[in-house]
Amino acid sequence: MINEMIDMRSDTITQPTQAMREAMAQAPVGDDVYGEDPTVNLLQKKVAELLGKPAALFVPSGVMSNQLAIKVHTQPGDEVIVEKDSHIFNYETSGPSILSSVQLHPLIGERGVLRAEQLAPAVRPGTYYMMRTSLICLENTHNRAGGAIYPLDEIERIRNFSKALGLKLHLDGARLWNASVASGISPKTYAQHFDTVSVCFSKGLGAPVGSALVGPDDTIERARKFRKIFGGGMRQAGIIAAGALYALEHHVERLSEDHLKAKAFAERIAGNPRLMIDMRTVQTNMVVFDITRTGKSTDEVLAILQSKNVILSDANYTSLRAVTHLNVSLEQVKRAAEIVAETF
Ligand SMILES: *Cc1c(COP(=O)(O)O)cnc(C)c1O
Repeated sequence: MINEMIDMRSDTITQPTQAMREAMAQAPVGDDVYGEDPTVNLLQKKVAELLGKPAALFVPSGVMSNQLAIKVHTQPGDEVIVEKDSHIFNYETSGPSILSSVQLHPLIGERGVLRAEQLAPAVRPGTYYMMRTSLICLENTHNRAGGAIYPLDEIERIRNFSKALGLKLHLDGARLWNASVASGISPKTYAQHFDTVSVCFSKGLGAPVGSALVGPDDTIERARKFRKIFGGGMRQAGIIAAGALYALEHHVERLSEDHLKAKAFAERIAGNPRLMIDMRTVQTNMVVFDITRTGKSTDEVLAILQSKNVILSDANYTSLRAVTHLNVSLEQVKRAAEIVAETF
């Protein structure tokens, strides 16, 4: 077993368990474009309840979910405030400019967190020759900030600010489940402050495919129309929705195990002075650490580790990212940390 690959690139590489596959195989299905898939309908009802919103829409990916939110909350020419390291700004391939004809206005946060005070100067005045600010997007947990949790009191302050100005607030909650399990704050408590929330089932929850956008009935109805336009109208999607339902029932509480694994990994890495790590960011299932002091590039370090059967990913130009998940054990994670710490 000593030569097996320990793949900690991402929690998206997780394989459906046997029990999840069985639940998927047995799911009753129908044509969801006609609204007739009972499993999709059940999932949407359940996710809406969990997040305390009137409606939910099952979509193929987290990117589509975020892009639908931007589409329904903006008009062409508007501006959307995001954090500079956010997924929407970095990994969605200019989707907002292509699909919604809006401009993003990135602000620099601290470990992914924007403060309410930063927002006022970023909101455009209502002059006719300036773009209209219509939406603010936050991310919880924050991916590039190493899975850091957004503090609830800051979310509340941002909500008060956005409400006073009539701006919409969207949460990219791809890993809201991790934030909730780690903080003890329910998904509903986080979600109440947002107009729409996107959640993923295909990350730490271990389902093969799928995300959901939740929000008010009329907003989600408009998102359903755009989902079709974006090519995301699915037919017997209950097969994959069943994986998401199974994950919600069986794989949420266990995220705390992934968080313990990430802590163990980070603590071992922190023992090596060449690997710099901000332990404050190690709050959920990710560990981002800086490798500048190794004197090597991220590509070089990744290649060396891969030759030793440890697969990590690039976080940014000088940092690597390790993600814990359902398919790596505590023992494997500790072994991977040992290899990383000893190699440099
Ligand atoms: C993974 C991720 C998404 C969306 O990802 P898909 O690969 O499209 O499902 C969105 N936001 C964050 C923060 C993510 O980590």
